[in-house]
Amino acid sequence: MKWLAGAVLFLTACAAAEAPAQPETITPVLETPATQPSGVQASGLSCAGALTQGGIALCRATPGAEILIAGEAAGRADEQGWAVIGFNREAPESIRVEARAGDQIAHADLTIAPRQFDVQRVDGLPQQTVTPSDPAVRARIRSEAALKAQGFASMAPMTGFLDGFILPVEGGRVSGAWGNQRILNGTPSTPHFGYDIAVPTGTPIRAPAAGVVTLANPDMHYEGGLVFIDHGQGLITMYLHMSRLDVRVGDVVRQGQTIGAVGASGRATGPHLCWRMRWRERQLDPSIAVAGLATARAELVDRQIN
Ligand SMILES: [Zn+2]
Repeated sequence: MKWLAGAVLFLTACAAAEAPAQPETITPVLETPATQPSGVQASGLSCAGALTQGGIALCRATPGAEILIAGEAAGRADEQGWAVIGFNREAPESIRVEARAGDQIAHADLTIAPRQFDVQRVDGLPQQTVTPSDPAVRARIRSEAALKAQGFASMAPMTGFLDGFILPVEGGRVSGAWGNQRILNGTPSTPHFGYDIAVPTGTPIRAPAAGVVTLANPDMHYEGGLVFIDHGQGLITMYLHMSRLDVRVGDVVRQGQTIGAVGASGRATGPHLCWRMRWRERQLDPSIAVAGLATARAELVDRQIN
């Protein structure tokens, strides 16, 4: 259950970093980090997408093939042979993806582009928000961690990721980059695994891809109003600090459907959407997914035809 503790820590860091002491970078939200779709083709396995740290890719394999990433089981390709894979912040330069179907094993060695992450110091935070010691608060954090673990454990048979992702809010500016190393009150903390978009309270949040809601809670200690959507194959997106929730656990949402509204609930000092993405315990950069999945499917279909 090591990752569970990690989840609590990163959420602490995210919330704390939204204090006024944080320097804000101003970037138009549509200028997502540039990622060139590229890929590697091997007999029985072909992958394309954002091959970079925090990135995401689509693979085409034999339908039902068992997928392994760096030797680790990572589910199965669906009935059409599609499989989604992701790369965490510390992903090495080369990652081997395997597809096993019967006694056939195909593999592709993907080259993962490294990224530079800034170090951000945030000082003057109430110490209780960095290292909570109040027993009641700690008990609440524990029970909410269990709730989140439940939401993450979902493996819905959805294929929402195949249609690519749209941005969940229109306009705004990036108020917190993904992956930055955080030093809170002088203590090195876990990196920021959110992509923060500053928009006014009440701005509708749209499902960026079809999926099923696996967590919908209006009042979490760190996150405030919080929603998780499972898009299939363990790819889950998260929406923090919401002012209104329009969905409940078990709801199936379509791409573009309003799931609630932006707010500043939980530990946030101003209205913004903290958007997060996770695939099988790896934290991914959602802005990279928007860029990376847009062309990956078409590229793989193209390769198959030619
Ligand atoms: Zn955030």
